[in-house]
Amino acid sequence: MPRNIENAKAEVQWINNIISGKTELTQQVKEEISTKTVENFRDHINKGFLEYRKSATIAGDFAMTEWSGQGSIITDMLGREFIDMLGGYGLYSLGIRHPKVVEAVNAQLHRSPQYSQELLDPLRAQLGRVLGELTPGDIQYGFFANSGTEGVEGALKLAKLYTGKSGFISTIGSFHGKTAGSLSVMGKSVYRKPLLPLLGNVKYAPYGDADAMEIELMKAATVGDDIAGIIVEPVQGEAGAIVPPDDYWPRLREMCDRYGVLLIADEVQTGFGRVGEIFGVDCWDVAPDIMAFGKALGGGVVPCSGFMSTAKIWECMEPNPFMHTTTTGGNPIACASALAAIGVMLEEDTPKQSAEKGIYMTGKLNELKDRYPGMIKEVRGKGLLIGIEFVDGEVGYHVVAGMFKRGVLTGGTLNNAQTIRIEPALTVPYELLDKTVEIMEEAIKDQI
Ligand SMILES: *Cc1c(COP(=O)(O)O)cnc(C)c1O
Repeated sequence: MPRNIENAKAEVQWINNIISGKTELTQQVKEEISTKTVENFRDHINKGFLEYRKSATIAGDFAMTEWSGQGSIITDMLGREFIDMLGGYGLYSLGIRHPKVVEAVNAQLHRSPQYSQELLDPLRAQLGRVLGELTPGDIQYGFFANSGTEGVEGALKLAKLYTGKSGFISTIGSFHGKTAGSLSVMGKSVYRKPLLPLLGNVKYAPYGDADAMEIELMKAATVGDDIAGIIVEPVQGEAGAIVPPDDYWPRLREMCDRYGVLLIADEVQTGFGRVGEIFGVDCWDVAPDIMAFGKALGGGVVPCSGFMSTAKIWECMEPNPFMHTTTTGGNPIACASALAAIGVMLEEDTPKQSAEKGIYMTGKLNELKDRYPGMIKEVRGKGLLIGIEFVDGEVGYHVVAGMFKRGVLTGGTLNNAQTIRIEPALTVPYELLDKTVEIMEEAIKDQI
């Protein structure tokens, strides 16, 4: 569109007055915001989204425009409420706007929101310390960033720097983020193929199959394809809450030691209580060499991600600490958010809540599966990372849409609703879990 400074000025004023509360939110203004949001998505973001988002396709006159939230309830511009069973795909492990996280971020915001880039920053240093205390094995040093994919990028770079090797082995169906490095180890053709070539020398083994991983290591060692590390999700999230056999992680640890390659755990989704322990690898008492974090680390208020490793491995970054940097990563409000979130996780024992509520919820969902044969194929998961696999994507989509119409938000989009994810806040009240199952039953009944 042609440049128009006057229009830009008017448009920015319009929204800034709404953000700051100077504009009163009358019904007319609310409807205007809703309508304009759809137009803006169409003209300035990506009109493709409007075809995939249930909030636009089945909303009726006014698209559901997210406006506020608290705990496990999301409210749209026009006051319609949703039970949040999606949890921002793992972002909202403490729910929306946990008061303690908001308070900490507020306090830091009024002191110093970002860094000078020169003075030493106490919050980042302390976050490294706290995570060093929490992580398994000898993991001790950390680098902080904003998105999960940056955590993975850093983990891959560190593995290459330390080993002097370039190859990786990943798993089929894996999700590690969408920047170029992370995409190179992604196990899904749809996102990867159009962008090839990416990082070379990446191999794949089926997820959960330790024998297959060992064969890849053996092949690489035999033919001289040097492998820096293997990267694996403790539980595959995006692929639909796939839990590996209990001996998988211990065997990965053992074979990595034997072949001299690094074990990288992508804990972006599983970390910080999601699967019933502080970290996913804790379910099997395995200490990886490198861990990547994201999503819930920031407590759902300010994004925070990172990667961590042992003193021995980190040494390779010490001669030139500028080998890996980012201007805004680990900024003070992000670290304040993460530190407050970790405090809440430990005080409220959210990993335990996740384990208990996960057992409760999968039990309820399995009862549904048995009551309506031919609808749900499998209920699986660990903690509150739950996947419900429907017999086919069509049924899944209609159930998800039926739940959405009744005010329950879950994963599963138009093109991929065969497996939907239930990933609520770990602090979610039991009543809302019950309500979700009730509403799901109604949505299933509609399909019979
Ligand atoms: C979400 C996710 C990522 C990417 O995180 P972003 O913040 O979306 O970049 C990486 N790995 C796993 C396992 C994830 O679930």
